[in-house]
Amino acid sequence: MSISQLARSIQESPTLKLNETAALLREKGEPVIHLGGGEPKSKTPMDAVLSCTAALNTGEIRYAPADGIPALKKAIIRYTEEHYKRIVSPANVIVSSGAKQSIMVLLHTILDPKDEVVFPSPYWVSYPEMVKLAGGVPVVAHPEDGSFHPTIQDIENVVGSYTKAVIINSPNNPSGQVYSKQFIAEVVDFCERRNLYLIMDDTYNRLIFDGQTPTNCYEYAKDLTESSKLIVINCVSKMYAMTGFRIGWAIANKEIVRAMTNIQSQETSGPATPSQWAAVGALNGIQSSIDSLRMTLENNRNVLVSRLQAIPGVKVTKPGGTFYCFPDFSAYNKDSQKLAQFLLDKVRVVTVPGKEFGREGHLRISFCGTLGEIKQGVERIQWALDPNSPNELYIGGRKLVRDWA
Ligand code: PMP
Repeated sequence: MSISQLARSIQESPTLKLNETAALLREKGEPVIHLGGGEPKSKTPMDAVLSCTAALNTGEIRYAPADGIPALKKAIIRYTEEHYKRIVSPANVIVSSGAKQSIMVLLHTILDPKDEVVFPSPYWVSYPEMVKLAGGVPVVAHPEDGSFHPTIQDIENVVGSYTKAVIINSPNNPSGQVYSKQFIAEVVDFCERRNLYLIMDDTYNRLIFDGQTPTNCYEYAKDLTESSKLIVINCVSKMYAMTGFRIGWAIANKEIVRAMTNIQSQETSGPATPSQWAAVGALNGIQSSIDSLRMTLENNRNVLVSRLQAIPGVKVTKPGGTFYCFPDFSAYNKDSQKLAQFLLDKVRVVTVPGKEFGREGHLRISFCGTLGEIKQGVERIQWALDPNSPNELYIGGRKLVRDWA
């Protein structure tokens, strides 16, 4: 069959594929522990459920405006004022079906063929494919010191005459790194000076630990006019544990929002109305669920990090936010895809290969599940990898025998 060159150039989302693999194995009764996931396990905030069901109960679920219902735009404007100290108008806001769609529509809006988009490694798996989908060229800025924290020099090194935009995601998926406020200030300044679009992917903005305060990129911007090329992406997916509702948004200058709205109106129309009402409830309602999620995740992180550090040879950088840890397993296997497959085959633990995020030798391990899953998952990983482990391990009532070196 003939499919387009573009379609052939795009890879399947490895994280969504892993979800499917884990679900299939579970269906077959396999005792799978999924440490590859990307969504908190907490329930939808009650205010979101109530607001959504109130909309459903009217029995009138119609098309929404392509850029979002006015009530949600209002809630987003209030959220932006509270968390970013920035006053924007409805014309600066576009609501999409998840942060993913906001980023995708934005890339379609700003990229011409072969324009380059720079982002540091490790990076969210979808950035390279999304840039390619929009006709652009992804360019990775590898931190020179091999760490998870880029410097402005790392970014400058790969910016050239074809660069159109920079994407920054902090706290970062997959490393959990919270980039320093100084770095964010430097990137904002650099992009302003070089007239580049700066896409701040703030999906995990408030999921930070150890008493840190969220970073507000606008604080460092000199240009806050309608010619600003700074775009901030947010969503209810992670912070409000509402991944299934598919609501995200972008704050940008009016011209960009207008162009994004045109594209979105032709591609999908406005996001599902009940989901938008759910997001209104989440943003305007009681905010305690974020604090309790943050506390749970911080505790999970502490347990995961201490257990991983106990595995000889594994190098762990403590995540300062998100619900991902990105340890270096290269002492065991430099090929992260093979290692992830080995762990799935031998001990039924799902992890995500670091290669997908631009860093070989690492695995992304999520701590958004239960403490029990985290402890058992790491116990299984250690058993499978550490040659000094006992010969046998019981999982799900089944005896495993270590028959590999
Ligand atoms: N950006 C990052 C860094 C993410 O990790 C994700 C989700 N995994 C998204 C954007 C997309 O979020 P949404 O589910 O709202 O589309």
